[in-house]
Amino acid sequence: MTRRISILGATGSIGQSTIDLIRRDADAYDVVALTGGRNVAQLASDAIALRAEVAVVSDESQLDALRDALAGSGVVAASGASALQEAASRPADWIMSAIVGAAGLAPGWAALEQGSTLALANKESLVTAGPILMQHAADHGARILPVDSEHSAVFQALVGEDIAAVERIIITASGGAFRDRPIATLNNVTVAQASSHPNWDMGQRITIDSASMFNKALELIETKEFFGVLPGQIETIVHPESLIHALVGFNDGALMAHVGPPDMRHAIGYALHWPDRRDLPVARLDLAQIGQLNFRAPDHARYPALALAARVMEEGGLTGAAFNAAKERALDGFIGGEIGFMDMARVVAATLDKMSAHDGLQNATMTLDTVLDTDRLARVRAGEAIKMTGH
Ligand code: NDP
Repeated sequence: MTRRISILGATGSIGQSTIDLIRRDADAYDVVALTGGRNVAQLASDAIALRAEVAVVSDESQLDALRDALAGSGVVAASGASALQEAASRPADWIMSAIVGAAGLAPGWAALEQGSTLALANKESLVTAGPILMQHAADHGARILPVDSEHSAVFQALVGEDIAAVERIIITASGGAFRDRPIATLNNVTVAQASSHPNWDMGQRITIDSASMFNKALELIETKEFFGVLPGQIETIVHPESLIHALVGFNDGALMAHVGPPDMRHAIGYALHWPDRRDLPVARLDLAQIGQLNFRAPDHARYPALALAARVMEEGGLTGAAFNAAKERALDGFIGGEIGFMDMARVVAATLDKMSAHDGLQNATMTLDTVLDTDRLARVRAGEAIKMTGH
């Protein structure tokens, strides 16, 4: 029996890895919807090759180009936010949520309403709206499977285990592009330098977030929300080789580590075939050749994002939505040359300070609307903080 699948964010790094896996076994799938942001050429060529029902480009100015590229193919072209929601709402058995940023929240939310499986790469959904997203899935009988490599690793280590026996979850971090660079020079690094990752090949935004460890900060919050553990049970360790993705520590002292090559097709493939394991086109590790694995404690002066994550986990409520939006705006500011690399954390901290004092993040009621409102307000506040910080 074929499975109906959709890929939200099909033109990105995760989307393309997902398509790579689908293409290897194309007869097993009916592709329902593919969506992209602006990359019409990639979207159209994949939609035609996979015979998708619909291809959606979120940027409305690209609709004519998409229509032209799909002419005669039978694939329906659409654009804009409501078309994206409609595509996410089409009945499917398995939907990949791989739009980058808070923009992925609403389409993933709509996808859950079908009560099927959401493979969640978009970590921002859990960071901004974790409690209501998990409840929304439960209300609709839907399943969320983690695709972030660390969370897939924890999920796999927990198969057959009781979460009550978990003492701690250790999330590994490569340390990013500037792991060994003198801290005093970090505010002067260029966007190009921050956009290169020592181990993983990913989209530009998550690569820069890896250098600053804002990506790890998102993952710590994601861990709390997805697995329902306490902030004090979640640790980070720098592991330059990126071969152990996460470890789970149990109450008998055992540590279960998930070891594998840095290739997202493993975590995507695990979510695609779950609960089965299938052959995947990822490299097999030669441990004798690797020789040794290294670990070190994270340096909090180098990675101020980690302390901000701890604050978000303690404060809860809408703090995660404000944190993520401020982080996205600060990242835009860095990419656009408004602020330096280390200023990103200052902007996020200033935004949280201002919003916690005036906008009652902690005790506010969390709904999809209040999350989206907080997101909008935090971007404005972060913009103000950028003006105060800018160089
Ligand atoms: P990319 O930047 O490579 O791709 C992002 C995708 O989202 C593209 O399809 C892009 O379209 C689309 N997009 C961008 N903005 C919008 C928007 N406003 N509305 C609708 N679609 C939009 O990101 P990644 O694939 O690297 O990451 C995707 C998600 O997965 C992120 O949340 C990331 O944190 C997470 N993740 C990524 C990993 C990785 O290895 N890359 C690992 C673990 C998690 P287009 O390109 O056409 O403009």
